[in-house]
Amino acid sequence: MNMKIIIKCIIMLMVVFIFSLKTCPYPDVNEKYKSADYVDFKNNIISRYSWQKPVIFSLWPAGVKTRIRTDKKIIALTFDGCGGTAGKRLDWKIINYLKKEGIPATLFVSGNWIDLNHDAFLILSSSGLFDIANHGLEHRPLSVRGFEIYNMTGTRSVSEAVDEVELNARKIRDITGKSPAFYRSAGAHYDDIGVRLVYDLGETPVNFTGTPNDSDLSLHEDRVFENIIRNSRSGSIILLHMNHPEKNTGIALARAVKFLKEKGFSFVKLRDYVDDLI
Ligand SMILES: [Zn+2]
Repeated sequence: MNMKIIIKCIIMLMVVFIFSLKTCPYPDVNEKYKSADYVDFKNNIISRYSWQKPVIFSLWPAGVKTRIRTDKKIIALTFDGCGGTAGKRLDWKIINYLKKEGIPATLFVSGNWIDLNHDAFLILSSSGLFDIANHGLEHRPLSVRGFEIYNMTGTRSVSEAVDEVELNARKIRDITGKSPAFYRSAGAHYDDIGVRLVYDLGETPVNFTGTPNDSDLSLHEDRVFENIIRNSRSGSIILLHMNHPEKNTGIALARAVKFLKEKGFSFVKLRDYVDDLI
């Protein structure tokens, strides 16, 4: 074979390779959850809601749980793993601290975050210390009209809202063998139809007690510590983020846990109080 033929072959192979890149879009890793059964299931829900319009979009629509009804000194720590621009990584300092102290927590993870942290997710979900909850497939605020918050556009229809909640639930169940019991929307905002959809899909929407604790990423660790303490009372649900290892949430958390333990508080998973959420 002479050099000209070899060069021609190489060029042809390169053309075929480039053409195949253009004609094969990046595979949808969630495609396998969109079975025919799922489409029927979703269409059934769409038919029930298609004529309804939302009247509220906020942090606190009726039905979103914000604390545990109890007079015991218990607190539920919850951590969001958002994914994308809202935080792609895992702060192992937080996880290792919780493990070292034996402190249980509920971890709300999006489908995007799972895909970006798959090996870490397997470790977290196999630990009896943590319960995995649903933070949406693509980390979108839950709406049927595309309401926006914090520069994020919410789901725009019942179909998109069901995909956001149910496909991530199926993804979590597929990987862990266990269905999530709780859902928290991206930005913790929902419209009232979205809240009803979450219940229809067998999950409970959960936000937090009081004010967000570390959502403002510019907060100094002292402010995060103060936020946690201010919002901590019997039955509080505390919202923190585990997807910003560059921030000081872990330092504030350790200080707050020490402070609260000295005040007689202990820490619980939401799943152990499903019937006591209000
Ligand atoms: Zn989030």
